[in-house]
Amino acid sequence: MSFTQFNLDSRLNAAIKRAGFIKPTPIQTSAIPLALAGHDLIGTAQTGTGKTAAFVLPILQKLLKVPGKRTRALIITPTRELAEQIHQTIGLFSTGTKIRSVAIYGGVGANPQIEALRRGAEIIVACPGRLLDHMQNKHANLGTIETLVLDEADRMLDMGFLPDIKRILRQVPKQRQTMLFSATFPQEIVQLASQTTNNPKRVSIGIVRPAHTVDHTLFPVPHHLKKQLLIRILDQTDTKSILIFTRTKHRAQNLLKKIKRTKYKVTSLHGDRTQGQRRQALNGFKNGKYQIMVATDIASRGLDIDGISHVINYDMPATADAYIHRIGRTGRAQRTGEAYTFMTPDDLVLVQKIEKIMKEKLPKKTLSDFDYTVPKPENQQKPRKRQPRTVTSQR
Ligand code: ADP
Ligand code: MG
Repeated sequence: MSFTQFNLDSRLNAAIKRAGFIKPTPIQTSAIPLALAGHDLIGTAQTGTGKTAAFVLPILQKLLKVPGKRTRALIITPTRELAEQIHQTIGLFSTGTKIRSVAIYGGVGANPQIEALRRGAEIIVACPGRLLDHMQNKHANLGTIETLVLDEADRMLDMGFLPDIKRILRQVPKQRQTMLFSATFPQEIVQLASQTTNNPKRVSIGIVRPAHTVDHTLFPVPHHLKKQLLIRILDQTDTKSILIFTRTKHRAQNLLKKIKRTKYKVTSLHGDRTQGQRRQALNGFKNGKYQIMVATDIASRGLDIDGISHVINYDMPATADAYIHRIGRTGRAQRTGEAYTFMTPDDLVLVQKIEKIMKEKLPKKTLSDFDYTVPKPENQQKPRKRQPRTVTSQR
C-alpha cells in the first residue's frame, strides 16, 4: 500500500513525500478511502498511530477538489498544544495551496485569532471554550461547515467539554461529514458518536494497548524515597529526552525544583503555567534544549514529540487508560522507548489492572546499589494536616 493509491491531489502527494511518509499507517489505510468517499467515521486506534493525517488529508483533498472560500472544516480538540499541532500539520500538508487554517484556543490573546478569522480560513482547529467565545461575539461562523472532526473525543469528555461541544454542534449544519477519533471507546463515546454521526463506518486498529515498541518496567519504591530513586535512575540513563509524569501540578513543580539542583536541563508542563510558558517548555523539550520535562496529565494525550526515549511515571496514573496515554508519548511511529513506573504499596491494584490490559506481567526492577531501607525522616512521619480540597484543577 502506498499513498498514491488514494488518488490524492498532486500537491498533497508532494507534501506527503516531503513529510517523509512512505507508507500509510493501518488507520490511514482504512480511514482515508472511507473519508474520501464521504462516509462518517468513528476511528479508534492507540496513540501514535497517525490519526491526524487520517483526517487532515481527506479534508484537504475535499477542499482542493471543490474550491470555495468560506469556513468549511472544523476540527475540535481538547488541548491547546494539540490544536497547535494539528494546525501545523495542516500547514505542512497544504503548502503550495491557498488553503488557510486557524488555530483557536484560550490562554493567548483573542485579537490575532479574530484577525485571522476575519481574513478568512477554510479550516478551524479549535479547543471548545475559546471557540464558543468567538461564536458568541460573532467572530466565528460555523454555518458553512461541511466536515466536522472530534479528535481525542474520550479526552474531551474526561475534561468536561461535553456541554461545550453540544453548544458548538447546534451551530454546525446537520448536513455534514463527521469524523470522531478516540483512543478508547467507553459507553459515553458510543453515545456521543450516535448523536453526532450518521451511518458511521467503524475503523478500529487493534485493541487499545500501548505501542509494542515500548518496554515497561516497574520500580517498587517507598513513597519517601521516590526523589532519590529518580535521581539515581537519571544518573544511570542516557538522559536525552525523558518525560516525567506527576499526579498534580504542585508535585510537578516540586520535582522540577529538585531536578534543577542537579546537572540536568529540565522544564515543566502543567496547568499552572501560562500558555507562553507551556509553548516554550514544549518547544525547548522538542528541540533538545531541555533533556527532561516534568508534566501532569495535560501533556499525556496526543502530543506528538519525536524521540522521547523514556517516560517515567513518578506518580502512578489515576487509571489504566491514563497509563496507556502517558506511555503513548514514547515508542511513537515505530521508534522504541522505555516506560518506567514508580510503584508504592498503594499502587498495587492499579498495577494489576494495567497488567490485565497489557495481557502481561510487567517486570519489576530494583537497583542493587540503592538503599531502599532508609527510613522516613522524622518530620515527614508527623501526621500532616489534610489539604483542603480546592475547586481548581490539580493538573
Ligand atoms: P495519533 O493522533 O494517532 O496519536 P499522530 O497523527 O500524532 O498520531 O502521528 C504520530 C506520529 O507519526 C507523527 O509524528 C506523525 O508525523 C507520524 N506519522 C503519521 N503517519 C505516518 C506515516 N504514514 N509514515 C510515517 N510517519 C507517520
Ligand atoms: Mg492524535
